[in-house]
Amino acid sequence: ALTEADHIWMDGELVPWQDARIHVLSHGLHYGTGVFEGVRAYSTSDGPALFRLDEHLDRLFRSARMLRMTLPRGKAELRAATLELVRANSHRSCYVRHLAHLGCGAMGVDPTGAEVRMSISSWEWGAYLGDAAAQGIRLMTSSWRRNDPTVVPTAAKATGPYLNSALAKLEAREAGFDEAVLLSTDGYVSECSGENIFIRRGDVLFTPPSSAGALEGITQDTVATLAADLGITVRRENLLRSDLYAADEMFLCGTAAEVTPVRSVDNREIGAPGPMTAEIRDAFSAAVSGANERYRHWLTFVDG
Ligand code: PMP
Repeated sequence: ALTEADHIWMDGELVPWQDARIHVLSHGLHYGTGVFEGVRAYSTSDGPALFRLDEHLDRLFRSARMLRMTLPRGKAELRAATLELVRANSHRSCYVRHLAHLGCGAMGVDPTGAEVRMSISSWEWGAYLGDAAAQGIRLMTSSWRRNDPTVVPTAAKATGPYLNSALAKLEAREAGFDEAVLLSTDGYVSECSGENIFIRRGDVLFTPPSSAGALEGITQDTVATLAADLGITVRRENLLRSDLYAADEMFLCGTAAEVTPVRSVDNREIGAPGPMTAEIRDAFSAAVSGANERYRHWLTFVDG
């Protein structure tokens, strides 16, 4: 269950959590016309800090551009509103959800005339894939293919296309697995319902390219940077389902899921979290908590 916070920011002001309402004729509710972001704030010795907030806001504007949606507020305002919200909700750490959706003004699929509404919500969120996830999760290849880049702009973090993720996740959970891995139309590994994928083969980390329909994950970029700084070679290459089965190690990454080890795929055992996964997880924890000076520039301090 979601733990309510005190406030939600809506179209320029903080409103009580319970009052953050929209109309049933909102275009986004009917047709999935919206873009969003998920950012985490971590507890540091200098108070809560948002991790890579600028990159998340930049992606929100890129997503909006792909949908031909003009956001009514600028980046500086959204940045300030985010800090204000985390402060107002007195979080030490939290997850922050930015959403821009089409509201009222058009009922046909043509979105012309529908207003763009914006909100920022925050809540305290633990391990997204469950507390047992640190020991490794069990994945299943979904019967659903990933959204194809010729059908929707898969590089946009848009609301409608998440139907694909919801179907895959539900299917995997109902079959007794923790998470779904989705293949592209061409049969290459794309990503999971809400996370990018890394595997280790020998000394090298591999992650699928965005051309396989995967989101350009900010955590994926973080992991690639941390790995490079640790002297690990990272290659963005198309992977086959069998590459997952043959992996020496495997983990998922995302803002909500952070770095989550994978124990098996389609019941093929990969095993307990391995040494490179542990190394990356440790480097990630040090970066998000401000313990490693080298990555302090990724943090935006709420009480700064
Ligand atoms: N893929 C999908 C489908 C996602 O929903 C997410 C979460 N935003 C990711 C990958 C990971 O992206 P990020 O690291 O930027 O959160």
